[in-house]
Amino acid sequence: MLIVMRRDAAEEHVKKVIQMLEENGYKARSIPGGERVSIAVLYNKAPVDAAWVQEMPGVKEAIAVTRPFKLVSRETKAEDTVVKVGHVAVGGEKMTVIAGPCAIEDESQALTIAEAVRAAGADIFRGGAFKPRTSPYSFQGLGEKGLQILAKVREATGMPVATEVMDLACFDMVEAYADILQIGTRNMQNFSLLRRAGESGRPVLLKRGMSATVEEWLMAAEYIMAEGNPNVILCERGVRTFVRHSRNTLDFSAVPVVQRESHLPVIVDPSHAAGFRDQVMPLARAAVAVNADGVMVEVHHAPEKAKSDGVQSLYPSQFAALCRQMQAIEEVLHL
Ligand code: PEP
Ligand code: MN
Repeated sequence: MLIVMRRDAAEEHVKKVIQMLEENGYKARSIPGGERVSIAVLYNKAPVDAAWVQEMPGVKEAIAVTRPFKLVSRETKAEDTVVKVGHVAVGGEKMTVIAGPCAIEDESQALTIAEAVRAAGADIFRGGAFKPRTSPYSFQGLGEKGLQILAKVREATGMPVATEVMDLACFDMVEAYADILQIGTRNMQNFSLLRRAGESGRPVLLKRGMSATVEEWLMAAEYIMAEGNPNVILCERGVRTFVRHSRNTLDFSAVPVVQRESHLPVIVDPSHAAGFRDQVMPLARAAVAVNADGVMVEVHHAPEKAKSDGVQSLYPSQFAALCRQMQAIEEVLHL
């Protein structure tokens, strides 16, 4: 159930409706909008009887929500959510470019790549300090040292930094350093991690699980929002299919579907979708054309020496060309 308040409803009216709902055993959450406030009714096991709500002062209408997700749904909030990350707005008029290496390897590697991507037009720097690797013998990331390097990158370049939070054990530490907390594909349904991210004051970049439906992905975002964190950015990064020519299959159709169903911004990661450098630029261009709210691209100044995902990392010169191309495509969308 979604209760839409009248445009002229007083704060007192909103409070009364919430109080009434809570007295009846429901959990209610007010959602401020551009024009009016809505109230989402959460944790209801059966449909809420709309009749008495509709009679309350300030209430415009009570709508039954037909989707299993509520807070992430466009039915609950019609206008696009813009997630503020420092001075960067994700989900606004302009698409956001996040770029950087797969993993932070050392200070000079991170700073070299950061300067290059910033000069090319990146808005946010990415780099993993805690890496979820398929093999326990692969490079696992620098841990806190990597986070300290990310803080230096932010200081040196002015770019906000995004990094993955892999588990509850490192959560507080990652949260203390990062501007965006990334939840990776392997953790999309790690519900205790999602709940903890929901308690955080930091924006969350939620990657789609490699075998998740759009509904499961949005329900994962719902976990974060239900705990009180409205700043969720969704990231399509490809799903696993039968093909062998790419690491995953980039599901572009998920972008318009998510934008129809949800008010949350949705970006595309062509690097993990492709797995090979030669596919990354075409996929990133297509992501802009499909009207994603941004892209996240892996870049490395010496990919042959990278400790992870070198084969899918763009050279800085390729990234610079890509940024110019993406900008041109973005202009076409505004025609
Ligand atoms: C990453 O972005 O560093 C990463 C590990 O991505 P994913 O979770 O999509 O595999
Ligand atoms: Mn990677």
